[in-house]
Amino acid sequence: MKKDFSEKNKKIKEAMKATHTRRQVQACRVFTLKINQKKLSLKQREALKMIFVEGKWLRNAIIAWTKESEDNKPWEYDGNLKSVPVKLRDGSYEQRELRYLAMQMRQSVLAEVIHNIKGLSAAKKKGRKVGALRFTSELKSLNLKQFGMSHKFKSKHRMKLRNIPGTVYVSGVGQIPGGCEIANAKLLNTPRGYYIAITCFIDKEIVEQKEMHYEIQGEIGIDMGRTTSVTLSTGEKINVQIEETGHLKRLQMKLARQTKGSNNWKKTKHLIEKEYQKLKAKRNDAGNKLVHDLLRYERIYMQDENLRDWHNKKVQNSCLGRVKAKLSGHPRVVMLPRTAATTKTCVCGYKQPMHLWDRTFRCEVCGYTDDRDIHAAKNMIRLGHQYQVGLGRTDFKLVEKE
Ligand SMILES: [Zn+2]
Repeated sequence: MKKDFSEKNKKIKEAMKATHTRRQVQACRVFTLKINQKKLSLKQREALKMIFVEGKWLRNAIIAWTKESEDNKPWEYDGNLKSVPVKLRDGSYEQRELRYLAMQMRQSVLAEVIHNIKGLSAAKKKGRKVGALRFTSELKSLNLKQFGMSHKFKSKHRMKLRNIPGTVYVSGVGQIPGGCEIANAKLLNTPRGYYIAITCFIDKEIVEQKEMHYEIQGEIGIDMGRTTSVTLSTGEKINVQIEETGHLKRLQMKLARQTKGSNNWKKTKHLIEKEYQKLKAKRNDAGNKLVHDLLRYERIYMQDENLRDWHNKKVQNSCLGRVKAKLSGHPRVVMLPRTAATTKTCVCGYKQPMHLWDRTFRCEVCGYTDDRDIHAAKNMIRLGHQYQVGLGRTDFKLVEKE
């Protein structure tokens, strides 16, 4: 018996080592698939709903147990329990069976609580004010830990999920490139429905080929502004604002009229969340497209603006935050410091004072004139060159311009 055990451990170790070796030449990507609600059977609907309800019961039971006594450490909680106490409206408890939540999911709920508690105590040690871990009213995600066991593809668009009867129809599989290795996933519960965020490992070579297939162009400077969202050094102005819809505004007005906490209030609140998610998806989509477009350039110059300080509705409605987040840290992007005088500096080197409302740059010394934003975008490149030299970063070729 003992021999069997060591044999098994050895196999696990070897498998882990092999995985580690493979990961070094692989890149990690996460793809989100949507579960088609309309094609779900009644039983499947019930199972999906209950998985998250039971996950919530378990999470709250663990939190309640740790609150009972100082000695109750979450990592000592018995994750094998088949039922948990659930607090009812009148304050009493009822023992409820966990029928849909698979063993691995229970363990992942427990792991999440442990992770949260450790995070809180780490923040406390740093001197931040933290409260206790709160009870959850709705669980938003659950882990599907092992591809092939907790989740697998049954056909091109059908997936089998652990403890959900039959197979579910998913859309978005087309994003996953062929030949990649599928790993763990997350089952997401959102106001817009259920999703599966699936982690894949792809050969780095394939990723590069896929991301480099378009023609690379020279250099570009980007100015992010308060009035027009993005100005390029080529003179192109791109407005990347996605406004709140009239429907959303009407819902917000409705919510204000309703009694806080009532059932109708909750319904409206849910609809508002759904609208916000739609908006977010639209903004993300616009941001991704712009980033993809900009990455055709071999070198991208931009300034490390503090977008959060721009308390401006137009900026908040845009996808600038996402664009900046995706570009900063990219190997082909040069981020100029916040202090670089990209608006004031003239081609002759003179620093011309500028008011916020001056829309045209006009140099007092040499008479050079240009549109304010385009001038700033061009300056990103000019000052970017100096900045790079200052940093000693000359390891890449700069494109000559006439
Ligand atoms: Zn000048």
